[in-house]
Amino acid sequence: MEILNGKDLSALIKDDLKCKSEQFVQTPILAVITIGDDAASAVYVRNKKKACEYVGFSFMHFDYLSEVKESVVIRKIKELNKDKTVNGILLQLPIPDHFDVDKIINTIDPKKDVDGLTTVNMGKLLSGKYGMVPCTPSGILEILDHYKVELEGKNVCVVGRSHLVGKPIAMLCSDRNATVSICHSRTKNLKDYTSKADILIVAVGKKWLIDKSMIKKDAVIIDVGINSVEGKLYGDVNPDVEEKCSMLTPVPGGVGPMTVACLLKNTYKAYKEMNDINE
Ligand code: NAP
Repeated sequence: MEILNGKDLSALIKDDLKCKSEQFVQTPILAVITIGDDAASAVYVRNKKKACEYVGFSFMHFDYLSEVKESVVIRKIKELNKDKTVNGILLQLPIPDHFDVDKIINTIDPKKDVDGLTTVNMGKLLSGKYGMVPCTPSGILEILDHYKVELEGKNVCVVGRSHLVGKPIAMLCSDRNATVSICHSRTKNLKDYTSKADILIVAVGKKWLIDKSMIKKDAVIIDVGINSVEGKLYGDVNPDVEEKCSMLTPVPGGVGPMTVACLLKNTYKAYKEMNDINE
């Protein structure tokens, strides 16, 4: 069984970006907006800041209380859209329920939408003309490509159908000529689908939802889940699959670091497009 090491792969990507950024005249800037005080988000934002600093990008953080008026956040995003020095804008999710998350996200200029969540970028993904591709799905593809896992002709099962992970990764795998099934909370007999998958991608948010009885022998398992239980992190996949699968992403150290690396890649892509840099 081979561990798909997202931590090491993300370090390679970050080192490459660090080398490139040393040649830049201007520093790429990523602006992150947070609303409310979600504990997990605070950790993710800290990791993003650290990664930006490592590669030499500037990081701006606009941290609003949950009582902030939606119009204030929208005005800030419009300001950042106009600012030619800002390359990437990201709304850290989740935000408190009383905000219109779609409205806020769709205020972001699609060219600066480094999370790939605006309707424009989602539509581009659906039409196969990729704009900004969401970071976690991109990170999953980077891992599969790096470890030479072929998608063409494979049965891929994606468990979870969120805008953030499940739907886009299902679409990307289909574009790579895999045969994809998408499962969710109303799927009957989940095991019927997971046990036929050559590549199983699980993005649900339930500790150890999938165990070895539910997978195909020699399957490649991508565990996206991050579940914090009593201060410890667990994936959506029970480690007992190690006895049966051929490859597995660990939690932590698998998809998580790749998500951050792909956020930096998207920021760099936006920077290049804004500055007419061709490579
Ligand atoms: P989400 O928006 O809550 O979506 C969860 C999905 O799982 C939904 O589609 C839901 O189905 C489905 N689901 C719930 N219970 C299920 C069950 N018993 N069987 C099958 N499907 C079930 O979550 P998300 O944003 O996609 O995130 C999923 C997990 O990945 C979380 O643990 C999150 O923390 C983690 N995550 C990790 C990274 C990373 O970088 N590693 C990035 C993003 C997210 P319905 O659609 O029917 O409700």
